[in-house]
Amino acid sequence: MTEPRTSPLPLLAPTVHEHGWLVESSHRTLDGTVLYVRCAACGTRRVDLAARPQTPPAALSREV
Ligand SMILES: [Zn+2]
Repeated sequence: MTEPRTSPLPLLAPTVHEHGWLVESSHRTLDGTVLYVRCAACGTRRVDLAARPQTPPAALSREV
């Protein structure tokens, strides 16, 4: 008699979490510094624009 294998858990979509953005690369433009960031936890990528170092960067792109 074969042992019933443990039923595979349904793969849940990654839960919404506070992304921990890592800057992969950046370059300066006339509008500010464009940051290419990636979440270390889920791999989501985004492009940010940091107009000034003091202000938090604004997302230029949708999270992908
Ligand atoms: Zn994430």
